[in-house]
Amino acid sequence: AEIRLNDNSLFKQACYVGGEWINADSKETIRVDNPATGETIGSVPRMGAAETRRAIAGAYAAMPDWQAKTGKERAAILRKWYELLLANQEDLARIMTTEQGKPLAESRGEIAYAASYVEWFAEEAKRVYGDTIPSPAGDRRIVVIKQPVGVCAAITPWNFPAAMITRKAAAALAAGCTMVIKPASQTPFSALALCVLAERAGVPNGVLSCVTGSASEIGGEMTSNPTVRKLSFTGSTEVGKLLLQQCATTVKKTSMELGGNAPFIVFDDADIAAAVKGALVAKYRNAGQTCVCANRILVQDGVYDEFVSRFAEAVRALKVGDGMAEGTVIGPLIDQNAVAKAEEHVADALAKGASLVTGGERHPLGANFFVPTILSNATKDMAIFHEETFSPVAPVFRFKTEEEAIAMANDTEFGLASYFYGRDIGRVWRVAEALDYGMVGINEGLISTEVAPFGGVKESGSGREGSKYGLQDYLEIKYLCMGGI
Ligand code: ADP
Repeated sequence: AEIRLNDNSLFKQACYVGGEWINADSKETIRVDNPATGETIGSVPRMGAAETRRAIAGAYAAMPDWQAKTGKERAAILRKWYELLLANQEDLARIMTTEQGKPLAESRGEIAYAASYVEWFAEEAKRVYGDTIPSPAGDRRIVVIKQPVGVCAAITPWNFPAAMITRKAAAALAAGCTMVIKPASQTPFSALALCVLAERAGVPNGVLSCVTGSASEIGGEMTSNPTVRKLSFTGSTEVGKLLLQQCATTVKKTSMELGGNAPFIVFDDADIAAAVKGALVAKYRNAGQTCVCANRILVQDGVYDEFVSRFAEAVRALKVGDGMAEGTVIGPLIDQNAVAKAEEHVADALAKGASLVTGGERHPLGANFFVPTILSNATKDMAIFHEETFSPVAPVFRFKTEEEAIAMANDTEFGLASYFYGRDIGRVWRVAEALDYGMVGINEGLISTEVAPFGGVKESGSGREGSKYGLQDYLEIKYLCMGGI
């Protein structure tokens, strides 16, 4: 491996299926490149339907024993996994930055965040409570029990190569389900390293498997195989809709964490320094490549100019560089398509009357780098108002009234994260309730935590991850009616 690691066994170029590390039947592979340098890091198996079928069969075979363990026994294994993730935080972060590009400090943060889901669900594994319901008939008793959904499949994206896996897998395993994961082809090494540590933690063979390769073939098998009872997907709305259709034939449960178009609203009475700080993290974290990134910044008339000028000062200071370099805050985008999309959004906005405040172009550091950008005087007819840019481009829109801000914020088919800054307590409640979003950051730009329910409404998806609700998505409700008493 070209990645300098303390423990080289974390770098795997094979898939983990039914407790074995194997190659594709065809021996074909997919190359993985470093987005900062373009250098090849290594390759992973190019698996398809046949290998996925075997992984699913392994997950099915592992179900009875895993399900029969007590919550406390599953918790002990998850706890061990959590501890191993933290003990190997530095190596996992280096693997992540090398394949994903994000600054090393952010990768370390993501490993801690990914581990926090494992810790949380280890604790929750012991708290799968049922219900007793007073019966309308004296000779009957009504009891509700919770049981694992069964074999689950997960398809995950490249923007959070570790956390998007643990918040699905830890919940599934805690509930007593088994899971087959297909990570994004850009970032498979983080996923495979998580499996090395799961194996080391004592997760039994077949309980967790990971297949890399053809998205359509693996996804096709996961969605059509009747053994799979649930699919959890994080990725684009376009692919999510396709997977939902595919899951319909076998009526699988689904959790869909899809695209966003987050508004970030700044009212006249906001603490502007706090709003600038919040906007920086909400917009530019992971170079703008998160589904909860502020996509549209809406600022009230009275503070518009002040906000834009203070925001611009902060954005000009963001250091762009290779994620491995000391002090880098903005790494490369994932690939050429991502850079092209940023360029198109800027060109479209400028053509329709936006003003370029800062940035707006590719960065000389390399093909995948883009300069952090602010566009002022943005308007609703621009593509960036409607589309998730997934880049370090921040369009700033102007509004006059609270009603106008809410209408603009909700004028999208998406409904994942939203943010607003203001101090008036009445307005805080009104706006929080009026925003058609699954999550609202109020005077706060960084809202993700394992203890709170993450998820969206409208075309941003369904289901919640993390928190006590996250476990319920992997449990079925069974009603027992006992008569003859
Ligand atoms: P992004 O734009 O973030 O890459 P995608 O939705 O394209 O989002 O990808 C998210 C995940 O979905 C990745 O693991 C990708 O390989 C997978 N994927 C893409 N297309 C399909 C498909 N047709 N069937 C199943 N999985 C897919």
